[in-house]
Amino acid sequence: MDRLEKAIDIQPEHIKEAMNKGDFHVRSTESKDKWYQLSFGGKDGMPKCTCQDFSHTGLPCKHFFAIFEYNAEWKWDSLPSRYRENPHICLDDDIVFSQVDLTMITPFQISSQ
Ligand SMILES: [Zn+2]
Repeated sequence: MDRLEKAIDIQPEHIKEAMNKGDFHVRSTESKDKWYQLSFGGKDGMPKCTCQDFSHTGLPCKHFFAIFEYNAEWKWDSLPSRYRENPHICLDDDIVFSQVDLTMITPFQISSQ
């Protein structure tokens, strides 16, 4: 799990809870002045993170994994079930990245049908 390894670079103090429940600010591991906005999506929304990895793949990025790691309240189960049950994120990363054109992955459209 590449993302899980990268999540180790993120320190607990680099994660801040935002005003809205389920929203977080996570500091970039590349630049200490850069913070990504992350949201678990709540009841009606979809999870999102403003980092490049997430916007390219729609898959949970290292910032999500860092929160799973450090925050007792927000876990994988906190993601909306319609997102978790999406077939794309059940695939092993190697399969996804070797066989699928990442720009063709549209988990939000699929799961909202
Ligand atoms: Zn991210």
